[in-house]
Amino acid sequence: MSRLPVSLDPFQPRALDQQWQGELGRKELPRLAASVPKGMPLNVHVLIGLVRGLLGEIRLQGAISGELGQQCQRCLQPMTWTFNLEPDVVVAGPEGPPGALGEGQDVLELDEDGLLRPAEFVEEEILLALPLSPRHPDCGERVQREFEPGAGSGEGENPFAVLKKLRRST
Ligand SMILES: [Zn+2]
Repeated sequence: MSRLPVSLDPFQPRALDQQWQGELGRKELPRLAASVPKGMPLNVHVLIGLVRGLLGEIRLQGAISGELGQQCQRCLQPMTWTFNLEPDVVVAGPEGPPGALGEGQDVLELDEDGLLRPAEFVEEEILLALPLSPRHPDCGERVQREFEPGAGSGEGENPFAVLKKLRRST
């Protein structure tokens, strides 16, 4: 296990079967930082590795977890969004990904210099997973509970059934 590099060549033979890990924050993830309100956390733990797939393709696999601050779109109060992503993408070489790969396969295009920049990859993955309208998990419930009728207010008694009973007794 090595420290997450700024960039690496995924097609270099010694990169295969290697793993890297590191912590990323506002400085390394500027685009993501722009979506996190000031003073709120942005902590990301990254573990990625390169493996060879069944078709000879190079796959980037890993785990990206952490937390970042957002504003709840319901109560407009700060909230922390936690995430646990498990990317598994095919790294496209200069000639593109192997043609035999099925549709729906996530493919990572490298920069023009043929290098993989882990922080950029991680940032992209988190941006894709970021909820469009973040909310506290129990925010709606908390509001609803206040309007629930109290217990013992004629629960289960159908008003028409009550009427029938009254008619019969006259
Ligand atoms: Zn809320």
